[in-house]
Amino acid sequence: MQTPLKIAVVGSGLVGSLLAIYLKKAGHEVHVYDRSPDIRNITFSGRSINLAMSDRGWKALDGVGVGDAVREIAIPMDKRAIHLVDKFNYQPYGQEGESIYSISRGTLNRKMIDLAEHAGAAFFFDQKIWDVTLSDATLHIGESERGEWTEKKYDMVFGADGAFSRIRHRMQRQSMFNYSQEFLNIGYKELHIPANADGSHKLDKNSFHIWPRGEYMLIALPNQDGSFTCTLFMPFEGENSLAELNNEEELETFFKKNFPDSIQVIPMLAEDFFKNPTSTLVTMKCFPWTYTDKIALIGDACHAIVPFYGQGMNAGFEDITVLFEKMQEFGDDWKTIFSEYQIDRKPNADAIAELSYRNFMEMSSKTADEKFLLQKKIEKRFAEKFPEKWIPLYSRVTFSDRPYTEALALGDFQNEIMQNVLKLPDIETIWDSEIVENKILELLAKA
Ligand SMILES: Cc1cc2nc3c(=O)[nH]c(=O)nc-3n(C[C@H](O)[C@H](O)[C@H](O)COP(=O)(O)OP(=O)(O)OC[C@H]3O[C@@H](n4cnc5c(N)ncnc54)[C@H](O)[C@@H]3O)c2cc1C
Repeated sequence: MQTPLKIAVVGSGLVGSLLAIYLKKAGHEVHVYDRSPDIRNITFSGRSINLAMSDRGWKALDGVGVGDAVREIAIPMDKRAIHLVDKFNYQPYGQEGESIYSISRGTLNRKMIDLAEHAGAAFFFDQKIWDVTLSDATLHIGESERGEWTEKKYDMVFGADGAFSRIRHRMQRQSMFNYSQEFLNIGYKELHIPANADGSHKLDKNSFHIWPRGEYMLIALPNQDGSFTCTLFMPFEGENSLAELNNEEELETFFKKNFPDSIQVIPMLAEDFFKNPTSTLVTMKCFPWTYTDKIALIGDACHAIVPFYGQGMNAGFEDITVLFEKMQEFGDDWKTIFSEYQIDRKPNADAIAELSYRNFMEMSSKTADEKFLLQKKIEKRFAEKFPEKWIPLYSRVTFSDRPYTEALALGDFQNEIMQNVLKLPDIETIWDSEIVENKILELLAKA
């Protein structure tokens, strides 16, 4: 049990609200601030980016007893439904019974705030935090950056205020603070597949639908009301880019040619496309994440990643699991808690950033690479035949709570083996033979 402190959490997003529950359960007084209005009172169109929750997310939710409340709003997806231009097939995600879960970000956020309030956290909405005094955990709150600010002093402040965090912004102004930010030349736009008249789903409900096309792709995740939320990822400029889709005609011609089976299920294509904003994708890294025993960053505020592994929120939730482990281990010694927390999490955050970026590269540039496709075929065949010897990287990231650094190392190790295998003579013809199998077994045994 820790000595109760007065703690502020900046950001009532997914990570901030779950953190508030953990801090309340540990006996602290918790105030959560958000610059936006209370998301529970906003008339909501039902449209919002969906998230895929996987093992690490569930572990953090279950760790504080709220997993089942979230399961009520989640839809299991046990496979990918792959829509190619001329064919369609299913690809199971993991072993029998393994699924990732589709959840609407808005619905989840509302639920998390309810749960945190129920646990005793106090929420303050429409409160913009402009600055923080690091040495004494004082927040500076006001209507505008140049207007008047009020001060609120706490024992400790957590910055859970997302990729463009103001709390981090203040930490950045210290010497020895490392920071990098990199945008992809890819934007994303939300589209919508409505439910059938009887409320049923127009596509298979328990699948993550994907229309992979190399540099651009469309995905669709199921909602509980029978609809799907789609996201179109596309380069901003160049061939097959957003810059080429300037009017209804260009848009429809493009979709008819490249996503032919999506046309009949997205009736409001042009309206959605031209009304919805185009958003950007950023990888942000920084260090340190903490300042003495006063300030700590958590979630996207200290590690924003591109979404191609579906792990951003899961990684943020895992930050909380680890922080809580350190709280249990080191009691009131918050300096050590913060220091151990960042030492543990930083390499893992870097690892999932790297894995997510590699996944993007694989999807965008390697899908047309014959050697790469062959490698994936060999790996798949081998993993199916020797599941105990070859854990697919996706499973290690998604259906496991082993550190992301281990997953990255496993990926590198498997890749090294495969580069050797691809050098076998006539590999294109013998790829499904025992020779190849034995070669992989031999290389695995040597390691
Ligand atoms: C297209 C896309 C798809 C994704 N898919 C997945 C997925 O499938 N699975 C997954 O695990 N992750 C996914 N992610 C990542 C996930 O959305 C983020 O990692 C997650 O939302 C981070 O939560 P957070 O609470 O740290 O930050 P945020 O959700 O950004 O919340 C930050 C909060 O802080 C508030 N705030 C910000 N500044 C201030 C301020 N100055 N004062 C007061 N309040 C402030 C904001 O209003 C907000 O409520 C995806 C991301 C994108 C972009």
